[in-house]
Amino acid sequence: MSQPTRRNTLRGLVASAAVVVGFHPGAQAWATEDTRKGGLAGDFEDLPPLDGTLLTDEESRAAAAEDYGHIVHRTPRAVLRPGSVDDVVAMVRFCGKHGIPVAPRGQGHATMGQAQVKHGLVIETTPLADIGPVDADSDTVTVGAGVRWSTLTKATLEHGLTPPVFTDYLELSVGGTASVGGIGGQTHQHGAQVDTVTELRVVTGAGELVRCSTRRHPELFDAVRAGLGQCAIIVGATVRLVRAPETVRHYLLPYADLDTFLTDQRRLVEERRFAYVEGQVAPDDSGAFRTYLLEAVAYGPPVGPEPDDEALLRGLRFERGGEEIANLGYYAFLDRLAASVAEQKESGVWYDAHPWLNLLLPGEHVTRLAEDFLTSLTPDLVGPGVVLLYPLQRDQLRTPLLRTPDDPAPYLLAVLRSTPPEDEATVKRMLEHNRTAYEDVRDAGGKQYPVGSVPFDKRDWRDHFGRAWPRLVAARHRYDPHGILVPGQGIF
Ligand SMILES: Cc1cc2nc3c(=O)[nH]c(=O)nc-3n(C[C@H](O)[C@H](O)[C@H](O)COP(=O)(O)OP(=O)(O)OC[C@H]3O[C@@H](n4cnc5c(N)ncnc54)[C@H](O)[C@@H]3O)c2cc1C
Repeated sequence: MSQPTRRNTLRGLVASAAVVVGFHPGAQAWATEDTRKGGLAGDFEDLPPLDGTLLTDEESRAAAAEDYGHIVHRTPRAVLRPGSVDDVVAMVRFCGKHGIPVAPRGQGHATMGQAQVKHGLVIETTPLADIGPVDADSDTVTVGAGVRWSTLTKATLEHGLTPPVFTDYLELSVGGTASVGGIGGQTHQHGAQVDTVTELRVVTGAGELVRCSTRRHPELFDAVRAGLGQCAIIVGATVRLVRAPETVRHYLLPYADLDTFLTDQRRLVEERRFAYVEGQVAPDDSGAFRTYLLEAVAYGPPVGPEPDDEALLRGLRFERGGEEIANLGYYAFLDRLAASVAEQKESGVWYDAHPWLNLLLPGEHVTRLAEDFLTSLTPDLVGPGVVLLYPLQRDQLRTPLLRTPDDPAPYLLAVLRSTPPEDEATVKRMLEHNRTAYEDVRDAGGKQYPVGSVPFDKRDWRDHFGRAWPRLVAARHRYDPHGILVPGQGIF
């Protein structure tokens, strides 16, 4: 979620320099501390043997109490660095027995404590990093949940193949985006990343290792995809692949008014004219958010013909003369944020607080909703961040728990806010602005895309899931009977 060449405010995750504590001393420390505090777990005599390590040192636990948001901090009792999927099974069973809450953590890029768990167990998925061979019959690849999309893509490109959909930033885990959705500029063509997952290997909250797909345990498959970790931990995923282009043609098209910008974007996604469509809104010299930039990408051979500028831009009403057009290598295009992220890490901006707002607006009301929202927005409420606004196609979004407005062309509005974490007053104002914006959009039939920082209570979640709520509740009772999984989402 972020853009290539312009002011870019992707910022970051505090690097965790965890000290590895051996399993037995660690287990003891956990038990001792637990017992002293009146105990979540009581007696840990029955801690299972592990292939990996259980970390209970302060540094590891403090790292697991951080995320990209730097707003919420919940310290776990321990962090599991699994040496195998069996470790995940064993520790989930153990935690279920003792009523200890558990949260898997991929790259920790959630912004409001979603992968944190107070006094519980955080399970790192990073060690689950296998990448299987590409299956040439089905054009799929099976990977561990902790694999990052960047690593996966580099591996599949060796076969001329690529995952079809990308988030703007590639260093997110496959399990982490399959748990939320994974939306990007290709979503109007192929759905969210989770729509391109054909099978999952999961460890349920009951500690069962299960393979699920639309044919095998479909109700579990539906409960886990975009299921925010409420029913099972994803330990592996099979991802569909498509042919990769070698180069792409990249277009940045400026617009002078909101309605023309939105109408042209919508036209492009309905016609499927480009492989990728996004867009950005930035402030003008007066600080008003009213400059608009449409970003579109056409894939070249062997996926499509050599891109023809005249044909691709025909009928569009951007400000002629202001367009920027460039040829890029395919991976360079996908990884376009890498240089900016490196700069932000260098300057320290990456480690700011990120009270991000991510909403899905109903296309029918998008002009009014976007206009009202952008009028209420001031540069200090964004910081050095960016505002993204682009349409999706609902018929491509097929994952039941990825809730979208009941509209054929919902628009993603993402406000990637950023401010120093010690500026608590600004963080608070940004969070309040998120809540107000959410309510306005919800009242018009919109949804939150739940990767950001919108203060949400249990009633909001029920409303968010709507018709899918009873099925989620039933799946939760069935697959996580102890109710231990991912309390940081605040759903149950
Ligand atoms: C810089 C940046 C750019 C982004 N760009 C985009 C974008 O373009 N499009 C988009 O859609 N999103 C984007 N996001 C949001 C991102 O997709 C989500 O925050 C995603 O969940 C992060 O993946 P992660 O591996 O860091 O997960 P984490 O933050 O570690 O976890 C997120 C949630 O998923 C749960 N979880 C993690 N792994 C698993 C698992 N294996 N099984 C079950 N549950 C699990 C966690 O418990 C937690 O509740 C961006 C985020 C950042 C920080």
